Amino acid sequence: MSDFNKSSLSEIVNLIKSKKVSSSEITSHYIKNIEKGKKLNSFITTCFEEALKKAKEFDNKKNFNGLLPGVPLAVKDLFCTKNVKTTAGSKILENFIPTYESSVTHNLWSEGAILLGKLNCDEFAMGSSNETSYFGNVINPIGKDLVPGGSSGGSASALAANLTPATIGTDTGGSIRQPASFTGTVGLKPTYGLCSRWGIVAFASSLDQAGPMTKNVEDCALLLEAMSGYDGKDSTSINKKKEKYSKNLNQKVKGLKIGIPKEYRIENMPKEIDSLWKKGIDILKKSGAKIIDISLPHTKYALSTYYIVAPAEASSNLARYDGVKYGYRSNKGKNLIEMYENTRGEGFGDEVKRRVLIGTYVLSSGYYDAYYLKAQKVRRLIKNDFDKCFKSVDAILTPSTPSSAFKIGEKTNDPISMYLNDIFTVPVNLAGIPAISIPAGQDNKGHPLGLQLISKALDEQKILNIAFAMEKSIAFKQSLNRWWE
Ligand code: GLN
Repeated sequence: MSDFNKSSLSEIVNLIKSKKVSSSEITSHYIKNIEKGKKLNSFITTCFEEALKKAKEFDNKKNFNGLLPGVPLAVKDLFCTKNVKTTAGSKILENFIPTYESSVTHNLWSEGAILLGKLNCDEFAMGSSNETSYFGNVINPIGKDLVPGGSSGGSASALAANLTPATIGTDTGGSIRQPASFTGTVGLKPTYGLCSRWGIVAFASSLDQAGPMTKNVEDCALLLEAMSGYDGKDSTSINKKKEKYSKNLNQKVKGLKIGIPKEYRIENMPKEIDSLWKKGIDILKKSGAKIIDISLPHTKYALSTYYIVAPAEASSNLARYDGVKYGYRSNKGKNLIEMYENTRGEGFGDEVKRRVLIGTYVLSSGYYDAYYLKAQKVRRLIKNDFDKCFKSVDAILTPSTPSSAFKIGEKTNDPISMYLNDIFTVPVNLAGIPAISIPAGQDNKGHPLGLQLISKALDEQKILNIAFAMEKSIAFKQSLNRWWE
C-alpha cells in the first residue's frame, strides 16, 4: 500500500475518484494509524466498525459526485453526531448520545465523508492547551512534553500525526488557529454565520464558529466549501450562495494591499515571532503586494472584552446542564436544589466553573452595566477599527500566537498567562470576521509557528488565495519521526 501519510485531503479525494484506491483501503489505513497513535490521546470515541461498513457501502456505489467521496474524517467532539457519543470534553456529557446530527457534520456526510471518530478537546471548548478535558490532556506530535494548543487540540494533534486526513474544529477565541499554529497545520475561522452552529455544543453563541483544519491551504478551501452553507435551523446563519473556494483558489497577490497593525507588536514579543512576521511581510512584498501600516487602536481591550463576553454567554448556555435535561446527574442531595448543585459541582471541571462564576458575576444586577454592557460597547469599537481598515486594505497580516507550543503543565496554574495566548486571535471573533493561520516557520527549538491573515466578512476566498501564495513561497516542512507509534 502506498504511503497515504504523505497524501493531502485533496490527493486522497482524487485517488478515490479515479478509483486508484478504495474508500475501504483509505479508511483501514487511518484506523491503523489511530490504533498506533493512542499515546497522543487525541480521540475520545472511535467508530471503526461503522466507518468500515460505510466505506464498503461507498465502494459499491456506482456514481457519486460529492466533494469528499468516501473520505474518512474525525471531528472535534463538540459536534453532535447522531447515535455517536458527544462529550464536549466534559464529565457532564460523558454518556450523552445525541439523537440528531449537527448541520456542519451533516454537510460533510452528504458530500461523501465518513466519520472515523470524535476528537478530544478542552471542556466545552474552554482552554488553549487541551488540558481542561475531562478525558485527559492531548499530546502534540511535535514533542512528547508539548501541548497541542486548544481547544481543538485533539483535532490538531490527530491531523498533524496523520490520524485523519483533515478535520474540523470550532473557534470562539482562537481554538482553530492557535492549535493549528502549534502543530504546523492550517486552520481557518470563517465569518460568523458562514457555517451553521446548529448541533454544536454551545460555548459563547455570538462568537462560536466552526471551521476546517487541514494539512495545506488547498485542503482548507475544499473542506470549507463542504462544511459551509446556509442553514435555516441557525438564526444567525448567513443566507447566501455557496462559494466554490477550491475551484476559485489562485495565487494572485500582486497589487493587493496588506495591512500591518502596529498594536500587534506587543511588549516582550519574542524575537522569533517578530522575525517570522517580517518574513511574511517580505514574502508578500516580493509577490507584488503593497504593505501598509495600519492601526487597530482598541486591540488592547480585546482580551478583557472577550473574557467578559465569552464567560457571560457561557454561563447562560451552560445553565441547561442541570442533571435533568442532559447527561450526568449526581445522586447526592436531599432536594432539587441540592441535586442541581451537586450535579454541576461534580460534572464541571475547574475552568468551566471559573467561566460560569465570571459570567454570572458580570451579568448580575449592579455589575451588568459596569462589565457586560461596557464590554459590548468596546466590542463594537473593535469591530469599527477593522471596518475602517478594510476600507484601505484587502487583508491584515499578524502572527497567529505570541509563542510556539508550550510545555504540558506550564500554564495550568496561571489562567491569565493561559488567556494571553489568545491575544492575536480574539479580536477577529469579536468582530465576526474570518482569519486563517498557516505554518510559516519554526522557532529555535524547531517548533512550528503560524502567521495569520484576516479579511473583512465573507472574504474567505481572498485570504485563502493569499495564504495559498504564501504557502508556496514558505515551503514549510515538518518531519515527524512518528515517535508515538
Ligand atoms: N482559548 C480561548 C478560551 O479559552 C478560546 C477558546 C475557543 O476558541 N473555543 O476561551
